[in-house]
Formats: sequence, structure tokens, C-alpha cells
Amino acid sequence: MIPRQQPPASRESAPDAIVVGAGFAGIHMLWKLQTLGFTAVLLEAESDVGGCWYANRYPGARCDVESFAYSYSFSREIEDEWRWTERYPTQAEIQRYQGFVVDRLNLRNRIRFSSRVVTASYAEEAGRWAIKCEDGTAYSSTHLFLATGPLTVPRMPEIAGIDTFSGESYHTARWPKRGVNLTGKRVGLIGTGSSGTQLIPAVTDVVERLYVFVRTPNYVTPARNYPLTQEHRDYWIRNREELRRLCRRSEVGGGGDVLTFEKLRWKRGLDSKALSNEQQQEIMAECWEAGGPAPLIYAFKDVYSDPVVNELVSSFIRSKISEVIQDAEVLETLTPAGYPFLAKRPCVADNYYESFTRPNVEAVNLRRHPVKAVTPGGISLVDRDIELDVIVYASGFDAMTGAITSIDIRGRHGISIQQAWRAGPQSYLGMAVAGFPNMFILGGPGSPSVLTNVVATTEFQVDYLGDMLAYAQRAAATVIEAASDAQNKWVTHASQVARGTLFDRADSWYVGANVPGKPRVVLPYAGGSIAYQDACAEVTRDGYRGFVISKS
Ligand code: NAP
Repeated sequence: MIPRQQPPASRESAPDAIVVGAGFAGIHMLWKLQTLGFTAVLLEAESDVGGCWYANRYPGARCDVESFAYSYSFSREIEDEWRWTERYPTQAEIQRYQGFVVDRLNLRNRIRFSSRVVTASYAEEAGRWAIKCEDGTAYSSTHLFLATGPLTVPRMPEIAGIDTFSGESYHTARWPKRGVNLTGKRVGLIGTGSSGTQLIPAVTDVVERLYVFVRTPNYVTPARNYPLTQEHRDYWIRNREELRRLCRRSEVGGGGDVLTFEKLRWKRGLDSKALSNEQQQEIMAECWEAGGPAPLIYAFKDVYSDPVVNELVSSFIRSKISEVIQDAEVLETLTPAGYPFLAKRPCVADNYYESFTRPNVEAVNLRRHPVKAVTPGGISLVDRDIELDVIVYASGFDAMTGAITSIDIRGRHGISIQQAWRAGPQSYLGMAVAGFPNMFILGGPGSPSVLTNVVATTEFQVDYLGDMLAYAQRAAATVIEAASDAQNKWVTHASQVARGTLFDRADSWYVGANVPGKPRVVLPYAGGSIAYQDACAEVTRDGYRGFVISKS
């Protein structure tokens, strides 16, 4: 049920809880806190809701999890009233949805926009967090929830002369709200991860020429996006309980491709070694036609962990690329080699490879022709100068930890989160950090986060934390903190699990390799959603084992 009136915060600047970040997780956490009777204020750096979907408004930006699955499951009213229009929702549609949810739940008056949190320190005597925003506004709260997002802090490439460019330049994650006119322009794009691969097909019709600077080519699968009909919606509504349950208990926690999965359900987790080559190829072809990342990832078991099974799928994708790209040089530039499928986050985009068959699109192979510098006129390679009007940087993020470590957070004894995470992020279940009482993280390192449908995974975490707060409340306890030994065990377990996968076989943001000096660890929990949920449930059954829940 959605209450029309929210209880007022006891005091604006001293609520029970502060939530940081108005993306999916933060909005839901705010709602959960209110339903539990806590006063809460949400602080958001930007001027509207959205989180990563506020900032990443580059042409072609859309989610690669199907809209039905990439949505809240906690409110029947919201499910009934909202209409998704496409299989994969665009950035604009997702942001509209988040705005709709916030208004429908009467949460907007609890959100302080343009409030970038810069410091948060725990005052032990008072048992409260002191929080300060960039504009000097101060808050204090018992609980602090960091819903700051795994992909929030953009990274510019380490290229000399970036500031000297005389044309326009943009990062995909800071795309201006007013839009950018690329019509008739010579555009250079650096980065072919999920953002770059989506942007390319969206701009080829308007640019005069697009130079795509490719360092490491990715495995890009087609989305096969389509408009949703009443029939799709009826199917979803009829089956939503079962589909939500399947999502929740899938390896990627809600992953993926709900409608497709229904069609392909029998083709999941097959033992590829028991199939003939012909059968394997037939199944992969069907998955390719279904579109989206999930069918190909889950058709065969052990794609994440067995190099032989992985190579079967990797080489299938390479063969699909060569069906589209005829030119040998372009094919070499765009074909992923030397690392397995999924070691980097898979990219999903319609018409990606097809874009490179157009006369106005050029793939520049940076392995063969490295960049020397950005110059006032464009980009200078070791053997060629390319004149540009616009440079687009789709160069990624300081992922998973960046948004947290960019706040000066101090726990007990003034220890900073940067110090606590010197050797890589340490947490218990990815949700709490020893020495930082009553501070909770949503979608962060040590949890399945980006390896799953983040909306579903953070919904699980919001419910989990809500239950734990209610448990503490019943026990008249005010402090919840991860115990160091439980945290150490979780971190050790997570790294053991990661060693059994292929995630460390590429230099990607999954392991912090894109940020010089960042400790190399597999940042998300690699054991999958089901193992994660089961581990959390076991902790609950043991009376929240590993959390110290106390009166002070
Ligand atoms: P990304 O995956 O980290 O890709 C960054 C790209 O920039 C890579 O191709 C990288 O090349 C290149 N690059 C960085 N520095 C460079 C340099 N100095 N010279 C040349 N190239 C350089 O970033 P992203 O594409 O923004 O995606 C990040 C994540 O956001 C995704 O993995 C995904 O989780 C999420 N996302 C999701 C969606 C969706 O749902 N569809 C859309 C967009 C983003 P190297 O690989 O060689 O380093």
C-alpha cells in the first residue's frame, strides 16, 4: 500500500537516517526507511533523480536489462500504473520512471537536490554521523546509507594535451542536458565499452565522419530491441510473480531477459561438452537471434569459469563479427582477442558492427597506431593527424569504489575509508564495513552489484537492511557494525570465489585496472546472486552473525 502522507522528519538537519544518492537503490532505501518509521533525508548531488541514469544521457544510452526486470518489484501499484514502451528502456524512459516512482510515493519532499556530500564522520560519543555537503549544509544522523552507485565517477583517458583541444569535448557520463548537435561534424570517439558501442549506431546518420579509436575491442552482442505491445504487457502481468521469482533466483539476480528467457528456458545451463558441434552452433545461433546478453551467457554452464566452454562462445561471437565485417583491417581492429568473453563487461548494442560498413565511419586501430596526443585540431597518432570538431570520451569510470572514496568518510578513531580500503575494498556482505558503525552500502564492492541486474540486487539489499534495522529496533539496539573477523572471512571467501572465474583475465574496471594505482581485486562478489542471497539468509538465521548489534 502506498501511504499518501509521509511522516515529517523530526528535524530537517538531524533525521534518523541520511541516504546519499537518488538512483534506484537510494530511492528505494528512502521509501523503506519511511515505512519502518525512521525519519530520513536523501542527499543528491544532481538536480534531479536518476543516479547514473541522470548523468549518462549520451545518444543511444539505454539499459541492456529488459525493462520489466529493470524495475521495482516492491510496489504492485507502481507495476500496475507504469507502462514500459520498449524491451530495453532508454535513459530518458528510465529517468522518467524514477521520477514517477518518487512522485507516486511522495518522496520528493524528502530529497535535497544539488547537495553533494563531501564529508561524513562518525562521532563516537554521540553515536551519530556528521555529514557535510559542498555548499556547507550540515546534517547529522544515526544511520548513513551510501547509494552512490557503482559507475558514478567518470574517468578521462591518460592522453597528453586533452585540455588543448579547441573544439567541443564531452564525456558520455557528463553529457549535457541540452543535448549536443553532432550534425555534419567530424567526431572522434575514444572508448568502445558499453557506452561507446551504444553511441556509435545512434550518431552515424548525422555526423559527417566518425573516427572510432579502438584500443581493446569488445565482444558486442545485438540487443534486438523492440517496442512492447499490450500482449507483452499482459504476458508480464499474468506471469509476473513467477517471472519475478525466476529473476530473483537467477544467477544474475534478476538478470536479464525475462521474455526471452521464457522462450529459451529449456536452453539454460546445458552441458556443452555433451552436445555435438552442430547442436552447440545451433543453440548459440538461436541465442544470438534472441538478442541481449543473457541467452548466450547462460545457454551453457561454466561459461564464466571454464576456459574451454568460454572459448566456444567467444569464437562464436568472433565468427558473427566476421560475417558482417568484410575488410580484413577493420576486422582485425574490431575482433576481440587474447581475453575471454565476460572477462570485460559484455556490451550489447544493435547495429554496432554494421556501423563500420558505412563510408562515414572509420575504425582506428590504436594497437597499431597509438595516440600521441590530443592537439588543438584533433587527435594526433604516431603516424597520422586526424582533424576533429568534437571529441567524445566514452572512457569509463572509477568503478565500484570511486563514488565512496571521493567522499571524506571517517569512522571510529577518525580512520578514513581510503585508509580502510588501501589494499582494496573490505566489507561484510558488501553492505557494512568494520569500524564504520551504522554505515551501509548498496550496490557496492563485495556484493554481486554490477555482475547482476543492479535493481534486483539492491532491492534485495534494501529489504535485508530494512529487516536488520527492524531487528535492532526490537532489541532496542542503536548500533549495527560489521565485526572485523566476519568481514575478513567474507573478503577471503569473495576472493576465493573470484579466483574460480575468468574475471581476472582482462584489464577491466571489474578489477580496477583502468585506474592507475588502484589495487587489483575483483571488485564485485563473483559467486552469483543465489549464493549471495543464501549467504545473507544464513547470517540472518544465525541472529545476524558477524554483525555487532548493540545499544551503544
Ligand atoms: P568502459 O567499459 O570502462 O570502457 C571504456 C573504454 O574506453 C574502453 O574501450 C577503454 O579501452 C577505452 N579507453 C580508456 N582509456 C583509453 C585510452 N587512454 N586510450 C584509448 N582508449 C581508452 O566504460 P563504459 O563504456 O562507459 O562502460 C562502463 C560500464 O557502465 C559498463 O561496463 C556497464 O556496466 C555500464 N553501462 C551499461 C550500459 C547498459 O546497460 N547498456 C550502458 C553504458 C554503460 P580499454 O578497454 O583498452 O581500456
